[in-house]
Amino acid sequence: MSKTIFEKIIAREIPSAIVYEDDLVAAFRDVSPQAPTHILIVPKRPIPRVGEAQADDQALLGHLLFKAAEVAQKVGLTGGYRLVINNGRDGGESVPHLHVHILGGRSMKWPPG
Ligand code: AMP
Repeated sequence: MSKTIFEKIIAREIPSAIVYEDDLVAAFRDVSPQAPTHILIVPKRPIPRVGEAQADDQALLGHLLFKAAEVAQKVGLTGGYRLVINNGRDGGESVPHLHVHILGGRSMKWPPG
């Protein structure tokens, strides 16, 4: 299977601004930011989307969310932020490698588009 673009970022095969990394997840700046702060945090193991996670991925999913909150704090999103997971075609997912968007630095609208 060919690598996803996020696997290539993790492997340093393409450049990215990585803001956090551990054995299980990596967080980097979105190349097309939709807010003053827009970071993606991804599992290093390329689960295509949250809807395809398996029962034994539960600890990893928890770690991903916990670290998303830590990254948001680390980059100074003290006024709040939004976490977004797009799942599949109708969810607007364009990269088939599970990722949580961390969006902040402006007031978010509801409902999303
Ligand atoms: P989604 O539409 O939820 O699948 O989000 C995919 C996100 O990946 C989009 O916000 C893109 O801007 C972002 N993206 C695509 N390629 C890169 C890249 N090379 N580095 C950082 N972010 C990227």
